[in-house]
Amino acid sequence: MTTAIRIDGKAKAAELSKEITARSEALLRDHGIRPGLAVVIVGEDPASQVYVRNKQRTAEACGFHSVRHSLAEDVPQAEVLALIDELNRDDAIHGILVQLPLPDHLDEQTVTQSILPVKDVDGFHYVNIGKLTAGHVDDAFVPCTPAGIMLLIEDQVGADLSGLNAVVIGRSNIVGKPMASLLLAANATVTISHSRTRDLAGVVRGADIVVAAVGRANMVRGDWIKPGAVVIDVGINRIEAEVDGETKTRLTGDVAFDEAIEVAAAVTPVPGGVGPMTITMLMSNTLRSARLAAGEGG
Ligand code: NAD
Repeated sequence: MTTAIRIDGKAKAAELSKEITARSEALLRDHGIRPGLAVVIVGEDPASQVYVRNKQRTAEACGFHSVRHSLAEDVPQAEVLALIDELNRDDAIHGILVQLPLPDHLDEQTVTQSILPVKDVDGFHYVNIGKLTAGHVDDAFVPCTPAGIMLLIEDQVGADLSGLNAVVIGRSNIVGKPMASLLLAANATVTISHSRTRDLAGVVRGADIVVAAVGRANMVRGDWIKPGAVVIDVGINRIEAEVDGETKTRLTGDVAFDEAIEVAAAVTPVPGGVGPMTITMLMSNTLRSARLAAGEGG
């Protein structure tokens, strides 16, 4: 019988959302400013539509001003840039988010870099990446998924990770790299592993904190985990499973949860772990931007 903790990201996100809503109400009361989030979506990709709807719904639940700009799949890049320019200059908008991926004819870098760093609530602008990498975490907009993960880790082991080994699996710009920067800023000894890493299992076995952000179902096995480690599963994988003789699809993470929970101190489930925290951190970044615009500390 395991005594490990199943980290409840949904409950944590709900608790944070309450705080964000209260602070948003206070900002409106004291400064007449309502945090404003603009979401730009190009094309009809069904998964992106769901993500954007969830972001908007959460923004509204937090009392934010929320606008959505839906652009046609074949929209010229100049039109996207003109819209972002307009949003950059709109005082009612504090956060701008362009839902990725974009259609092939649009250059993702040009589009994301055209958002003003002070409204870059996804944390993809080079200015924010630079601040984070330089260790100025409090001054940067940090990408939402790693920012949420740090709060989950903090709940388990505290904010100072001195003396702890952390292994990040995956080196994407959205998750892996900013995750490693945050862990380093919190004094962990950090290893970034990826598809070219030799003996991944051996690398993971040395980790007190494991963050798996790969996109391969159940890749991290229980016997890779150091006893007592904190395991954060970022992966979202849709797999087919037999339920009562019927084939259904369900979501699973990069970690074999049932195995890991037998060895680890704490593990995030999928769904219900990292995912809910990501959207909440987007709200947190937008609130921060609005507070800075009001001359308040972030
Ligand atoms: P990505 O495809 O950009 O990067 C995947 C990384 O995994 C790469 O750096 C690659 O080197 C590494 N990798 C691939 N195969 C590997 C292997 N065999 N061994 C070790 N490393 C390997 O993906 P991403 O955008 O970072 O997302 C990773 C996963 O996290 C996906 O499943 C994605 O859906 C999920 N995700 C979840 C959230 C959330 O909020 N829960 C947010 C972002 C991403």
